[in-house]
Amino acid sequence: MSRFPGLELKQYAPPERGEAIGREDGALRVPDEPVVPYIEGDGVGRDITPAMRAVVDAAVQRAYGGTRRIAWWEIHAGEKAAGRFGCSLPEDSLTALKYFRIGIKGPLSTPVGEGFRSINVAFRQRLNLYACVRPVRWLEGVPAPVKRPQDVDMVIFRENTEDLYAGIEWESGTPECLKLRDFLREELGVRNIRDDAALGVKPMSPSATKRLVRLAVRYAMEHNRPSVTLVHKANIMKFTEGGFMKWGYEVALHEFGDVCITEKQLADEFGGVRPEGKIVVKDRIADSMLQQILLRPAEYSVLAMANLNGDYLSDALAASVGGLGLAPGVNMNDEIAFFEATHGTAPKHAGLDKANPGSLILSATLLLEHIGWKEAAETAVAAMERTIRDGAVTYDLARQREGSREVSCSAFAQAVVGNM
Ligand code: NAD
Repeated sequence: MSRFPGLELKQYAPPERGEAIGREDGALRVPDEPVVPYIEGDGVGRDITPAMRAVVDAAVQRAYGGTRRIAWWEIHAGEKAAGRFGCSLPEDSLTALKYFRIGIKGPLSTPVGEGFRSINVAFRQRLNLYACVRPVRWLEGVPAPVKRPQDVDMVIFRENTEDLYAGIEWESGTPECLKLRDFLREELGVRNIRDDAALGVKPMSPSATKRLVRLAVRYAMEHNRPSVTLVHKANIMKFTEGGFMKWGYEVALHEFGDVCITEKQLADEFGGVRPEGKIVVKDRIADSMLQQILLRPAEYSVLAMANLNGDYLSDALAASVGGLGLAPGVNMNDEIAFFEATHGTAPKHAGLDKANPGSLILSATLLLEHIGWKEAAETAVAAMERTIRDGAVTYDLARQREGSREVSCSAFAQAVVGNM
């Protein structure tokens, strides 16, 4: 009998070792040798993915002395898949992620001449990975533009499936665009559309907003976080962005009323001092939030926001602590968590053993945390911090920091392993 009942693959052979992660009573059931599907990625993916695997294997070995290990299983997407299977996103890769519930990927270049704009977007849509989660905090030794990068410790939950990013738009002057313009004018009485305007639609729903905020509040509860902040532009867009804020509060205060309190309650009922175990739910207007992350970062912890605001805020916050090269991320839903390097393929550096594997390594530590292997995650993060603090860094950080020693991608990974 197959070790993986129900796994139907057409292009790949199943994994040779390991067991699938299961689910029991809502929680993950993780075997001692879980199968972790991985996609090497295009461009610098071939440099950073082996570096990431080396660090993860060493951290798991160090933390559990050989009683646990990862059964890596390569699946394909991007250029490698196009060469082997004739398409950039083989169906088997989607099947694998659904079956094994987790995965990790290097960066993927955007295919030219295929039916979708971006493989990353295709993954999110096909697997309904509705939340993009980006923890952002500073690692000691990383050059940062702000004065107190150590105050930044936030986790952004960005809605992934709707808002202006749903891609519903019409080009200026096309018959469809003119038809929509006329419909809006004639049927709905809209007056302020210019004759030559291009048009876009911004769908935002209570259902998509609520599942995102639910995930954010649960995360805050599980990780003992003091607050969840809903970020929006409700002052300008009453029903979409305003809806986001309203539905967000509804989830927090109705579904999690025993732990969530508002800022007003905090002031009126608790004298401004948060009682242990309570989560303060706040909301901020997006432009003000862009100031807050620079001026008062210590006041924010978990943030939830719609797609467009999340795009801007994730990158701005990552830049404030030293840039995207080190930011980890995951796209997820209630069943699947797909971890990723958040930068692109950096084609100029591909295959030169130069790129910084930090983002992918930190994403892998999120994966370890996600499956409950906290000791291994902590081992890897601490060793990486020590390596950067000691000044052994890849070219991108070396050129920004005096007194550091430039090392290759693989040498950085070796140094991290040596620091465990
Ligand atoms: P990029 O992230 O590849 O590069 C931006 C800059 O950052 C470049 O100077 C690059 O050299 C540098 N850089 C990126 N990663 C680095 C690393 N690990 N170490 C050191 N330096 C690094 O973005 P881009 O140039 O806009 O895009 C290149 C390709 O990547 C495009 O095909 C794009 O579609 C794709 N892309 C993929 C993802 C993804 O898979 N998540 C994200 C962004 C872009």
